[in-house]
Amino acid sequence: MRREAMVSAVRERLEAQIPWDIAVVGGGATGMGVAVDAASRGLSVVLVDAHDFGKGTSSRSTKLVHGGVRYLEQGNIPLVMSALKERGLMRQNAPHLVHDLAFVVPNYSWWEAPFYGIGLKLYDMLAGKYGFGASKLLSREETLERLPGLEPEGLTGGVVYYDGQFDDARLLIHLAMTAADQGATLVNYCPATGLMRDADGYVNGVLARDEEMGEELALPARIVVNATGVFTDSIRRMAEPDAEPLMVTSQGIHLVFDRSFLKGNTALMVPRTSDGRVLFVIPWHGHAVAGTTDTPVDAPSLEPRPFEEEIEFVLETAARYLTRPPTRADVLAVYVGLRPLVKGEGRTSTLSRDHVIHVDASGLLTITGGKWTTYRHMAEDCVDHAITLGKLPDLECVTKNLRIHGYLEDASGLGNLEVYGADAEAIRKLAEDPVLSAQLDSALPYIAAEVVWAARAEMARTAEDVLARHTRALFLNVRAAIAMAKPVAELLAAELGRDEAWIDAQVTEFSELAEQYRVV
Ligand SMILES: Cc1cc2nc3c(=O)[nH]c(=O)nc-3n(C[C@H](O)[C@H](O)[C@H](O)COP(=O)(O)OP(=O)(O)OC[C@H]3O[C@@H](n4cnc5c(N)ncnc54)[C@H](O)[C@@H]3O)c2cc1C
Repeated sequence: MRREAMVSAVRERLEAQIPWDIAVVGGGATGMGVAVDAASRGLSVVLVDAHDFGKGTSSRSTKLVHGGVRYLEQGNIPLVMSALKERGLMRQNAPHLVHDLAFVVPNYSWWEAPFYGIGLKLYDMLAGKYGFGASKLLSREETLERLPGLEPEGLTGGVVYYDGQFDDARLLIHLAMTAADQGATLVNYCPATGLMRDADGYVNGVLARDEEMGEELALPARIVVNATGVFTDSIRRMAEPDAEPLMVTSQGIHLVFDRSFLKGNTALMVPRTSDGRVLFVIPWHGHAVAGTTDTPVDAPSLEPRPFEEEIEFVLETAARYLTRPPTRADVLAVYVGLRPLVKGEGRTSTLSRDHVIHVDASGLLTITGGKWTTYRHMAEDCVDHAITLGKLPDLECVTKNLRIHGYLEDASGLGNLEVYGADAEAIRKLAEDPVLSAQLDSALPYIAAEVVWAARAEMARTAEDVLARHTRALFLNVRAAIAMAKPVAELLAAELGRDEAWIDAQVTEFSELAEQYRVV
């Protein structure tokens, strides 16, 4: 994927005056899923994102591919079943990126084992042929064997069950590459600034600004899909300034610790925290990630900040279950994500997690809500609607069996390059050059070749892109990420033809941003 080629494709189409079948605004899981679905059906599709693909919520999740044990408790069986099926399809189509993970629910009261045991059996059953492994009751000793760092006092036993885990930003990048492989045109750093209208007032294209060239772009399209997550209403207002808001937003934080807080390969699941939510402590990229929270927020932002109460809440809850209670000084990074929730009554944690498709009077098609795990199903539903609305050819969805870019049945032998799947080979080739085989910081496994690859093949444009999403340095260890900023900016500058001043600006900008991911 090369950005220059993508922008040229946009210009060529405009010159030829051929509208795209579908123009997508927003390159998170939802929009990128739509691009993959549409392109693989044979439709022409263009997608723009205001920032790097995945900058929004889609790089800030709990990293679970799951049916949602919590929604089971709420009695939403269809949502759980559909998500469990999608969990199975995600592992089938991206085995290099999605793998099984064992979760233990520890029991400290006599009634918990039968209660959670029965619930999790139902969870297994609903997965049917897409099951990931049978849940089972554990004795006290078995529970401690799986979670050696667990608080033993009062522990009576536990229940183990299985779900999926992934690297969200990495899957997003591979979805972008899948869409590009299928012929989609994708442009990052290109915010939609307005919508085009036909003589009858119907939306028939997107106006966008290429932030790198400072050029205004017009993207005529039969259907425009708004997939901007928590920013959904701002795009709808471009079509109808008085549109009733559709969205509410709640934020969730995660704290990242050294792996020693969670020994073993099993995740801890606390089914009912003091505020009635679920809390996970999960092994991820050699670290332990704890979260999340659910705090209503007024306005969406691309860089939401954690609230003090949220940090304290996660620390306190984790401390109740871990023998070595984590403190503020142990936090290597904090990251915050915003949930795009469709309006309804009540607390944000009880609002529907189903996706919603909305068509405004202007013909703008909005898709929002849902979750990462259901991105494929959401995209199928959205493109089906787009075909009807835009009178597009009736092409069948093919994504149930579409392999995601980098597909490799068993990538486990690739070590730190596992998440790249089949692309790991190309990165290893780059790393034959000793300069590019250098590790960028001793705390994290990333090497210089990954930066070059991100610039050449994955459309990374800035130090932040590389450090936050193409590698996960910023999400794992803020100190190490800041130390990596200079070498990363230098490597990028050589690839993208930038000068010394650009390098300095990148290091300053990134270091300032990274401070927000630190807990002091
Ligand atoms: C704390 C938390 C934990 C979660 N954990 C899980 C989990 O473990 N498993 C799971 O399945 N789901 C999880 N989710 C849900 C999941 O992450 C989201 O449902 C999903 O990422 C939403 O994707 P999206 O594409 O709709 O939004 P986003 O990823 O936010 O994408 C929207 C995009 O629109 C772009 N944009 C905005 N305005 C414009 C414009 N004017 N022009 C162009 N582009 C624009 C933004 O830059 C952004 O990239 C979690 C969510 C949160 C908040």
